[in-house]
Formats: sequence, C-alpha cells, structure tokens
Amino acid sequence: PAQEQTNNSLIEYRKIHLGKSLSLQYKIPINMVRGAGQYLMDQNGKKYLDTVNNVAHVGHENYDVVKTGQKQMALLNTNSRYLHENINTLAEELLKTLPPELSVMHFVNSGSEANELAIRMVKAATGERDILASEVGYHGNSNMCVDISSYKFDGKGGSGAPEHTHIFPLPDAFRGKYRGKDSGEKYADEILPLIERIASKGRGVGALILESIISCGGQIELPEGFLERAYEHVRKAGGLCIADEVQVGCGRVGKTFWGFQLHNVVPDIVTIGKPLGNGHPLAAVACTQEVAEKFANGMEYFNTFGGNPVSCAIGTEVLRTVKREKLQENALEVGEFLKQKLQKLAQEFPIIGDVRGQGLFLGFELVNEALNPLGDKADYLANRMKDHGILMSTDGPDNNVLKIKPPMVFSMENAEELVLYLDKILTEDFMQLN
Ligand code: PMP
Repeated sequence: PAQEQTNNSLIEYRKIHLGKSLSLQYKIPINMVRGAGQYLMDQNGKKYLDTVNNVAHVGHENYDVVKTGQKQMALLNTNSRYLHENINTLAEELLKTLPPELSVMHFVNSGSEANELAIRMVKAATGERDILASEVGYHGNSNMCVDISSYKFDGKGGSGAPEHTHIFPLPDAFRGKYRGKDSGEKYADEILPLIERIASKGRGVGALILESIISCGGQIELPEGFLERAYEHVRKAGGLCIADEVQVGCGRVGKTFWGFQLHNVVPDIVTIGKPLGNGHPLAAVACTQEVAEKFANGMEYFNTFGGNPVSCAIGTEVLRTVKREKLQENALEVGEFLKQKLQKLAQEFPIIGDVRGQGLFLGFELVNEALNPLGDKADYLANRMKDHGILMSTDGPDNNVLKIKPPMVFSMENAEELVLYLDKILTEDFMQLN
C-alpha cells in the first residue's frame, strides 16, 4: 500500500502540474526506475520484457553508449560552429549506410525537428509547399508536422487537413480501400487526383512524405510496387520524396538497414530519429547535394544542440554497436521466427486477422469474422500482458493492432516467452470474453 500511495501522489501531481494533454500508458500506470537491455524495472523491482521501445535501439542503458556519452560530456559539449571530429565521424557512419545519392547530413534533436527541416528543404528546393501524405500518418509534434499528420488532424482535437496537405488513403492491403497483394499500384494512383487538385489551384507539388512501414497506421507494410509508382507520380509533377525513417530505420527491418530499401527507390530526403541516440535526443536529415545546395540559399541554419560532440559521440557508438553486435541480423532472425510463431497463433485464434511487418517491427490485428476491428480486446490484451510482465502497445486508426518493436537485443527466448503468454491469455481469458 505504501508503494501504491507513492504512485498515487505522482499521478495526482502530474494531473495538476504537468501538461494536461500528456497521456499515461496502461489502466494502472507503471513507475519505471531502471532499464537494462530489453528489460525495464518498476519501483517494486518487478521486471518487464519491453516489446514497445524502439528508441532503446541497442538496449536500454547500453553500457558502451552510456560510457561514450559520459566521457564526451566530461570533456566538451558545444555547438557545431566549431570544428569537431565527432560530427564528421557520425556523418561518415551514417553515409556508409545510405545510397550514394544521399550524401549530405544535417543534425537535429528530434524526429519532429528532422521532418520540420525536411519540409523547409522542400520549400527552398521546389518553391512549393503542398505536401502529399498518408491517411493516419504521423510525422511529429511541431506545427508543420501536425499539419502533415492525418493521425493528429483527423483524430481527436483535430480539425481536418490544412489547405496545403493532401491525404491519400492508408495503403492497407488487409482492411483498406483496396485489398490483397496487387493493391500497390491502385493505392499509388490515388495520388494522381491529389496532384491534379494542387495543379487546379495553380500550385505545384512540394513533396511526398511517408514512413516505409506506417507505424501509427498500425504497422502497415507498403504493398508491392506502391512506393516505386508513388515516387514516379510525385517526381513527374516536380515534387521531392521524403522517407520518414524515424521509427523503422537503423537496421530494425532486418533485411535492409533502412525501410525504404525494402523497395526499389531512392528518396531525396531521409529523416532519422528515435533509435539514433538510443534515448539521447538526437536526430538527422540526409539529403542529396542538389537539395542541400538549394537549401543553403544564404539563410544560416543554426541549431543550438544539433550536432554537438556529445550527441554525435553517442550516435556513432549506437551505429557501431548495431554493427558490432550484429543487431540487424538479429532483427531479421528473431523477427522472422516471431512472425512465424504469430502466424501460427493466428491459425489457432481467428481473432488475429493479420500478422505483418518486417524484422523487429511487427504487428498483429484483432478483428471479428466480418473483419471489424476489436480495439477493446487489443487494449485488454495489452493490459493483461502487462500483468504477466510483458509490455506491448496498441495503435492503428481503430486501436486494434498490437505493435511489437522491441530493443534490437530481443532474443529468441524473448520471442518464445512473448508468444507463450499471448497464447495463454488468448486461450484462458478470451474464451470468457466471447
Ligand atoms: N516521425 C515518426 C514516424 C514518428 O513515429 C515520430 C514519433 N513518434 C516522429 C516523426 C516525431 O519524432 P519525435 O517525437 O522525436 O519528435
């Protein structure tokens, strides 16, 4: 009871004195005090397996990353107006992973800042400000980012798409407007009337922005051929293509280092966030020489914290850890194993309508026989999993998709444990609920 009181007072204080639109995970919120690898620990010493946190990319409080940050913090932290080896080294490490066309880096502090900068680049490079984006897409919390995030402006508290934002249907081959494997081109052609609408107003296309697997949309894999054709349409209209890799980047999808590489495309701008700092606020924008030159139109780009030696040391160590510990390979191996196990579970429990994703960026969707979404059951499942010491999150327009995007040190045993408890809850509890 003493512990419960501690949490109650934290909750009460938060309700009054912290931002009122902040949310809390779970019906009974958890007070986390430590992290290690793929595990978190609450104030009572209870251990949780974390399948949610794709920020703690190489593991919560990874020893090498923490040490690297501490060391540089004790030596020097300043802005990027002085020469420093660390910023060059991080740029080099990132550029090694990207196609040669993307050869200029800018460093910022969050995914929102990265997308904000990307849109500024688009305006400078094309002279246009009309943006094409997906239904239920999310690109960040700033004014501009909310303006291109249907997840926000079409959701609670939102007031619809602004004049310069053009939303195409969520390319969801399972329950979307077009279904099945050959829906990619049909979804891509949904962009054409939007381009016409922009032209009819006497304007041109600025850019298309899209995640390579749409996370807030419910781990939606882009159907085959979609991205290639969408890029073609946009480029023909004079627009640029932005890949938002804030969630899926840095090896998570297993087969490739970046999500867009699952498709046969090269973006003009790539935005990178969450995993790059392993929890330290660090994000980046990669672009082509052409975009970088047009952006440098005389106005200085200054960012107080972006590209500082501490952040850059941390980012470099994160990327080197991914390589050294073969975490992309781990994401592929464990991810495929887990996906198969989930597919097996779906055969046993028809409530699991679809299993999808790549590497350690997976999702499964709860539906009834008519394919209607079962958001309450998804919420129930996540809360019951928490009781068993496993953290999961739900998302998608109907909140009926369970998402799995754990730290990349997630092991085969972790995957087995996750499936074991899913099986247990689906067997025991759902029978009573039905
Ligand atoms: N893009 C995507 C795809 C995201 O998921 C997020 C964060 N959830 C952002 C951008 C914004 O990143 P941040 O919260 O670091 O500003």
